[in-house]
Amino acid sequence: MFEDDIKDKVKNSNLFEVVYKKDKFVLNGKEYPIGYTSYIAIQEECRFMDENLFKALLGIYDDLLRDFTKENLDYYHKGIIYVLNSLKDNPMFALLGVENVKDKIARLFSARKKNHYLAINDFKEHGIDLSTAEKADYADEVMHSLNDFLSAMAIGEIIYNSVLEVNGYAALVFQITHRIVERGARNKSQLADAFGEFLSDEYMQFIFRTASQPFKTRATVMPVIENIKGENCIFRKVYYNNLKDFLNTDLFEGYIQGHYLWRCGICDRYFFMTTAHKQLYCSTKNPKYDVPCSYVAKHPEVVKRKMERQNKIDSPYYLLWKKRNDLIRKNKSLGKYDEDRLLIEYVYGICPQCLKNKEKKSIRQASLLLGLTEDGAQKKLKSILKKLKKNLQE
Ligand SMILES: [Zn+2]
Repeated sequence: MFEDDIKDKVKNSNLFEVVYKKDKFVLNGKEYPIGYTSYIAIQEECRFMDENLFKALLGIYDDLLRDFTKENLDYYHKGIIYVLNSLKDNPMFALLGVENVKDKIARLFSARKKNHYLAINDFKEHGIDLSTAEKADYADEVMHSLNDFLSAMAIGEIIYNSVLEVNGYAALVFQITHRIVERGARNKSQLADAFGEFLSDEYMQFIFRTASQPFKTRATVMPVIENIKGENCIFRKVYYNNLKDFLNTDLFEGYIQGHYLWRCGICDRYFFMTTAHKQLYCSTKNPKYDVPCSYVAKHPEVVKRKMERQNKIDSPYYLLWKKRNDLIRKNKSLGKYDEDRLLIEYVYGICPQCLKNKEKKSIRQASLLLGLTEDGAQKKLKSILKKLKKNLQE
């Protein structure tokens, strides 16, 4: 019953829309760097998703198709809610706005709609009763819900397909990334080599069908005009009717931009980078040292001192990183000049700009505030003073 129509609905419903802006994409009003879905996909919640729960939903759906009763319809409705709830903490489905689907589900499965669906099934099986004007009106009203009926039926399979596609994508990203890191691809050309090698690998072609299907999409593309800082720009809005098209597109568009995953040399976790030649270590907090790996890399003493075992919060490195982080956040980017100025201000207790008196700090305190070592701060101070002297003599 209606199987072909439902299949058609599964294939051709626009599930979500994405706007592409240079090296970013916009989804549900939020902007992400192109390629970012690869980072989401390697999160554990995506890489190790259990398909069985979603397969069970298909079983319920089959039961409903075989025996279209109110009981089975309610059960199918419940199954969808349950499955959506289990997906809401999954970062990929959160990105896609699975929370917003709930309203749609509530509308599609209202008591009134469910009665219409049961009536549609009845019409299909026993024909439409048009013997009185009232019955004809009712039939007319019911048939207005046909499109919603098809959507409601399609949604179970759409969810199931989406889960499979996220699983497949996570595996694909993992395999490609493994090769990129293994080959040490640190720039766009090396990345292209590694990606090309992956695509031409026969075994990978067999698993991921990279030779034919993965980068073929069925998306609808529309131009949109948006005003950015007083100037009109043309962007590409793409309507996707399945997840795979969006994810695969995002992956290789990300590669075009030089956005890809790298394995941090310190914590071994994968991180997403947009400037390959600059990033070797991740900037998320390393649980072992309480500071980001990129900080550990610049301050090897962190690793040595860790042997002393301290409380997280008491750790001078944590405080140091936090202060510096807060400072950088405050100033957006702390320029070299600002750092020099602050050092002078802290150590001499006077602001070189406004010449106002400030609280004087020890070299040690000042170095902590600026994220320098004590020794480093001392050297820096010397070089600033030398520079100032030179300026004075000129
Ligand atoms: Zn790391």
